[in-house]
Amino acid sequence: MGKINSKKTIVGGIVFDSQTEGQYYQYLTNDPNVKHIELQPKYTLLEAFKISCSKCIGEGKTPSPKTNRMIKCRTCEGTGKKSRQPWTYKADFKVTYMNGNEEVIDVKGFANERFPLVKKMWERKYGQELIVVKKVKGGWKRG
Ligand SMILES: [Zn+2]
Repeated sequence: MGKINSKKTIVGGIVFDSQTEGQYYQYLTNDPNVKHIELQPKYTLLEAFKISCSKCIGEGKTPSPKTNRMIKCRTCEGTGKKSRQPWTYKADFKVTYMNGNEEVIDVKGFANERFPLVKKMWERKYGQELIVVKKVKGGWKRG
């Protein structure tokens, strides 16, 4: 992920990927409404899945190029299936407020063209808004 300004920074003994993230953590720890901060909560946007092997059309066997007899498909090891990895996403913070509300927050200090897709997918799956916070002059802007 091509983060801009991705100088590692330490705040409260914790290493952050960027200065902006560290600063926002500091901001959160100073907020009296914040009860708990979870760092880098991990989410699964799409579970691992299997597809039919295109080499053997899901049969698990292909004709041998030498003898033309059916042999075990090497691409799928004879299973007829290929595995696809899950799609995971690590947010920056999960914040629990004193009133019990929870928010998942991504600090936008970087350019990532895939992010809008991640955001949409996350919101579809978890049914709440993925909060994006941006550093602006004199503070933080939610948008
Ligand atoms: Zn196969």
